[in-house]
Amino acid sequence: MSSDQAQEKENELEDNESAENHLATVKELWVYLWPAGRTDLKIRVVLAMAFLVMAKVIGVYVPFLFAGAVDALTGETETTGTMIAVAVPVGLIFGYGTARVLTQAFGEIRDAIFVRVGQNALRNIALNTFRHLHLLSLRFHLERRTGGLSRVIERATRGIDFLLRFMLFNIIPTIIEIGMISTIFWVKFGFLYAFITFVCLSSYIYFTIAVTEWRLKYRREMNKQDTKANGRAIDSLINFETVKYFTSEHHEAARYDKSMRNYAKAAERSQISLTLLNVGQGFIISGGLVAVLLMGANGVAEGRFTIGEFVLINSLLIQIYIPLNFLGFVYREIKQALVDMEKMFMLIAKNPEIKDKDDAEDLKITDGEIEFNDVCFQYNEDRQILNNVSFTVKGGTTTAVVGSSGAGKSTISRILFRFYDISSGSVKIDGQDIRDIRQKTLRQEIGVVPQDTVLFNDTIKYNISYGRHDATDEEVFEAAKLAKIHDFILRLPDGYDTEVGERGLKLSGGEKQRVAIARTILKNPAILLLDEATSALDSQTERDIQESLEKISEQRTAIVIAHRLSTIINVNEILVLDNGEIAERGNHTELLEKQGLYYQMWQKQQQLDEAQRRLIELEKNDENACIIEA
Ligand code: ATP
Repeated sequence: MSSDQAQEKENELEDNESAENHLATVKELWVYLWPAGRTDLKIRVVLAMAFLVMAKVIGVYVPFLFAGAVDALTGETETTGTMIAVAVPVGLIFGYGTARVLTQAFGEIRDAIFVRVGQNALRNIALNTFRHLHLLSLRFHLERRTGGLSRVIERATRGIDFLLRFMLFNIIPTIIEIGMISTIFWVKFGFLYAFITFVCLSSYIYFTIAVTEWRLKYRREMNKQDTKANGRAIDSLINFETVKYFTSEHHEAARYDKSMRNYAKAAERSQISLTLLNVGQGFIISGGLVAVLLMGANGVAEGRFTIGEFVLINSLLIQIYIPLNFLGFVYREIKQALVDMEKMFMLIAKNPEIKDKDDAEDLKITDGEIEFNDVCFQYNEDRQILNNVSFTVKGGTTTAVVGSSGAGKSTISRILFRFYDISSGSVKIDGQDIRDIRQKTLRQEIGVVPQDTVLFNDTIKYNISYGRHDATDEEVFEAAKLAKIHDFILRLPDGYDTEVGERGLKLSGGEKQRVAIARTILKNPAILLLDEATSALDSQTERDIQESLEKISEQRTAIVIAHRLSTIINVNEILVLDNGEIAERGNHTELLEKQGLYYQMWQKQQQLDEAQRRLIELEKNDENACIIEA
């Protein structure tokens, strides 16, 4: 798949903005914040809200105490006696200090109480997504870039964190505060004050949202380029060796830089537009503040207001404007957070292609007989891969599938493992159609040694015991011995604790393959699928392992996919696949007698083996001659 196609697939999860979607996203998030059966968390939500309201009420009261102190100092408040004249402002100042401390403390307590709710929601959402990703099909994963996918989760979790912090503790409290302060203005100073404040706030909010909407395209471009650069960087680093083989460091850097350059361009535009936004906001706020303060000053001059009340107007206005300073940022981030979360919720909502039926049953193995009946399959609609393939592997026997590269051999094993569903026909194990069986029990009974082994970036022991997580050390060693890798591991300085590196790249192809064989032996499945399990081994090791594999296959049903025909001469039946159809079948002797496709393949390999043997002999003779001359 080209990178553009992969990008297109990722775009399926692209921004699909609408108020409806946002509302649905918030509702989905709410389920995690108000989780069923978790009364402890619900109590925390209620308590956090109570502290939030208390902090706000005290917060709005703070300017009153300050104004009272000012009035007491300027002699506006009537007091009798010097003691009281001093005590009143001092008391008010102490009250002012205490109220401020309480506002802050209540805010902090609210955060401390809520943190467990937020973290629990984050953990569960991330976990659900991760679990769901493992439920989605192989097709889904092959079509997407892992880097891009992990980015969706990362951004969404960041988005949720932001949304919780700002929506609950910034936007909602600010709205409450604006409501309270506007009412105070109306009641205490008159309609005009409340009206001007309201107009000023509305224009501020309108201006901020409008400009932020306009700026959003730069942010989106930044995000797009960021995802692209990240996907490219990860892809490039995963292919580190390939990059070196083709000395493409410059090409890779240029591709990465292209995305980074576009990112930088978008970031610059975003910053310039932010400057515009901030200057505009400052203009509106100052305009409103000046207008209301002028009216207040006039009121003081006319003796309608005290100096304290004049100070109160200023303090209250500033108190609303401070959180509004971040409105543009908060609006944009919340919107972005909603879009990011939507993408993750879309992932969670994505239906797995391969699903268990509601009435699916556990696989019951009796003989381990495998049956392919008229199986037709295609990965994509435009190309048929398997055409009416029918064969039976009797329980406890071994069948080999051979054929040219791309004939569809590995596809047979992917179908049996139910990575894909077939388009027609049926696949049965002991008479049970694999579509009617629970995938988990099907896969528990099948052991696969794949063509390309990829290992976890952990120790050799971890990778072998992946076959059965509860295996004892002795069982791991026994499996390694059967896979002819135990002695090699013991020779390593760190033995079984040797780290295998990213994707197991620190091991040779043959070593990786033997680790894969060992972990499958440990799994001890009823059915074995060996997809060129020994292709990366030298002839001697291959012969040794072959013995082990034959021994393991004795009591089970096995399908062996092989290129080297000498490894399958003893199997019960050989299927020769050609262009997705079974061209010939029979055992080794029968197929040779037929003198068909298999015979030709055999002849070619014999000639090649003979040529190789002669070459080795010649090299040996040359070496001997050199030694004698010396
Ligand atoms: P080899 O001996 O080279 O491993 P094979 O016989 O095992 O080949 P398969 O892996 O079964 O071949 O692939 C059969 C055909 O299906 C190939 O032409 C391949 O390009 C195609 N194919 C394999 N996987 C996919 C996929 N996920 N999407 C589309 N086409 C695919």
